[in-house]
Amino acid sequence: MALGFFLKELGVAAFLEYAFFKEQIVPFHEANVSVATLALQYGLSCFGGIRGYLGTDGSISIFRLPEHMQRFSRSAGLLKIALPGDPAYLEQAVIELTRKNAPSSDCYYRPFAYKSDLSLGPSIGHAGGGFSVYMLNLGNYFGEDRPLRLMVSSWRRVVDNAIPARGKIGGAYVNSSIAKDEAQINGYDDAIMLNERGKVAEASAANLFMVRDGVLITAPITADVLEGITRRSILELAHYLEIPVLEREIDRSELYIADEIFLSGTAAQVAPVGEVDKRQIGDPNRPITNKLRETFEDVVRGRNPAFSHWLTRVELPKPLAATH
Ligand code: PMP
Repeated sequence: MALGFFLKELGVAAFLEYAFFKEQIVPFHEANVSVATLALQYGLSCFGGIRGYLGTDGSISIFRLPEHMQRFSRSAGLLKIALPGDPAYLEQAVIELTRKNAPSSDCYYRPFAYKSDLSLGPSIGHAGGGFSVYMLNLGNYFGEDRPLRLMVSSWRRVVDNAIPARGKIGGAYVNSSIAKDEAQINGYDDAIMLNERGKVAEASAANLFMVRDGVLITAPITADVLEGITRRSILELAHYLEIPVLEREIDRSELYIADEIFLSGTAAQVAPVGEVDKRQIGDPNRPITNKLRETFEDVVRGRNPAFSHWLTRVELPKPLAATH
């Protein structure tokens, strides 16, 4: 309660009251670990990020829950973290937590798996695992709804054979944080990271798309990027809208001559980019970005029946009617 109030004062999304922790639902403030856990000491953890959208009927529609839990299980597998169940079990934990928290606005889920042992040394072989899910209220991730100003970071994106880039691994977010910090202290909204080969990888917590001559282009999943669920969804929506698509390497200089650029991610959703390195992006009308953004918004709000299978709808208990 006090923490939620404090965070609201800071303009940060507030945590919802309950969390899933040690295979049960507990008050969020009781879902804690020791300062000595391998997860905290060495970043031996992985996580997910999922959005839930509040419907006009008060239900919550969770976007691509099975796909998120499948990627989460794979991230855990990369670190040999034993989860309490298969992806279907994890999905159920998210659904039960949604019912318990009964959010009254759009929300965000953070599934989290970690090496729970307190032993010394960064071992993943035999250490035990923990799993939790907590929830936040979340609106616009970037704060303002205007085209983003990005910079190409001087930090390179972590390479797959240093820390697997395709999983959401806790320790790898040192890379994202350090790049985002550089961008923010220089007055930008976010960073674009190049990979070790000098090709465009992604932003600090979102994949990148550009449009050139009517073709939608994004880096392949072998370019040291996170295998974004929104990225995959945008590719499927482009196919549906008959927009030509290419998954290929992107050079830095292409960012400067692109017609359109946008970021995609669970938090970012579809976020248009206005400038890169203080250079204006070509077409201020952004026809393809806008079309994809509108279609994405329709899909997540349940207004496009062709993609209703992307939503897991959770009915919530009705609040008690006010007595007069
Ligand atoms: N890249 C990184 C580094 C991220 O943290 C995220 C956010 N999960 C993404 C891309 C976008 O992935 P998704 O669409 O699955 O949220």
